[in-house]
Amino acid sequence: MSNADLLDRRLRAVPRGVATAYPVYAAKADNAELWDVEGNRYVDFAGGIAVVNTGHRHPRVVEAVRRQLDAYTHTCFQVIPYEPYIAVAERLNALAPFSGPAKTILFSTGAEATENAVKIARAATGRSGIISFAGGFHGRTLVASAMTGKVVPYKKNFGPMPPEFWHLPFPVAHHGVSVADTLRSLEFLFRADVEPSRVAAFIIEPVQGEGGFYEAPHELLAELRRLCDAHGILLIADEVQTGFARTGRMFGIEHSGIEPDIVTVAKSLAGGFPLSGVIGRAAIMDAPEPGGLGGTYAGNPLACAAALAVLDVIDQENLLARANQIGAATKERLTAIASRNDVVPIMAIRGPGAMIGFDIVREHGAYQPDPEATKRVTQAALAEGLVLLSCGVFGNVIRILVPLTVPDAILEEGLQKLERALVAARL
Ligand code: PMP
Repeated sequence: MSNADLLDRRLRAVPRGVATAYPVYAAKADNAELWDVEGNRYVDFAGGIAVVNTGHRHPRVVEAVRRQLDAYTHTCFQVIPYEPYIAVAERLNALAPFSGPAKTILFSTGAEATENAVKIARAATGRSGIISFAGGFHGRTLVASAMTGKVVPYKKNFGPMPPEFWHLPFPVAHHGVSVADTLRSLEFLFRADVEPSRVAAFIIEPVQGEGGFYEAPHELLAELRRLCDAHGILLIADEVQTGFARTGRMFGIEHSGIEPDIVTVAKSLAGGFPLSGVIGRAAIMDAPEPGGLGGTYAGNPLACAAALAVLDVIDQENLLARANQIGAATKERLTAIASRNDVVPIMAIRGPGAMIGFDIVREHGAYQPDPEATKRVTQAALAEGLVLLSCGVFGNVIRILVPLTVPDAILEEGLQKLERALVAARL
């Protein structure tokens, strides 16, 4: 099997709507390394888009899934329920980044988590309105797309979007948007489109993921919390990409000290198995009537077994501290690279913990995003043997989502490959 053969088969069999970053096909993965079907080896700085914070096939995760595989793989929680689902809910309730009793419901994908967070918020408040942010990403199902703050490719041709979803500008200093701008837009929205008493929830990523690894200013989160308390609105933190130690805390919002009412989780929760969840204040979570929530595969036993092992690994291997260490080393390295004059111009190296991103621009001193150069960087990285992802509303951000279990030597190897790619991409 060659990569070229598989690309040919893929183009014939699979629609273009599911875009693929790279034309190489996986054969094997282990911790922070990947091999393709031709035996080429890659250091993995993508982690399956923030899914393997605990590495590919962590031995404890594999062992837990193997044990579950030998017992039962599916009974449907709505028919014959099982302990691992309850155990995951208990563990997530104990980790919930808010005070008071919590309850958790499980699903399979991030989009299902954000969709169901909307259903729960609407049932709990008896209101319809949902406010999210430009550049935010909450998934590709229809309600999730409506909340996602980017038209192309997520909404174009898929309309009409469901009603009662609004967006505010997301504050990013070097995009020229301040917290004051965002709050002024909210005032305008409350005057022009929807009264606060019709709004069920704000949904916000503590650090925008697909939108470009921009941290939500804590001042904004504090003001949203104040408005929620004043108007009976719920605050939903979408932690699908920021969760499970990526930012150096279990959840990204913990950096702000602000308490959300509902938290959506997925991705690194189960180390490569499809599992997502909605964690919320108990009274809110019990608002929907029995049967109103769920799904045939939601909270699959294999994925629950994986999640319990993932939570143990985060704890036992001190991955919160490790995320901060990886982040500090990576930022220091990137800062040194940024001062070289033979690399593509990079700026705004940032991110809490190991959720590291930076912008690629046309020249130093001005903010002119350079998505073409960014593409050259990711292509050059692959040629160097590094899987690297871009993101950002302008397509000019490089993001690093290396497994937190990466050995120092592999991290160093990956950073060297990244440096060579940044040189190679300079025209
Ligand atoms: N929310 C956020 C913050 C995400 O980053 C993503 C996926 N990138 C989603 C929701 C959707 O998750 P999924 O692709 O599993 O549906």
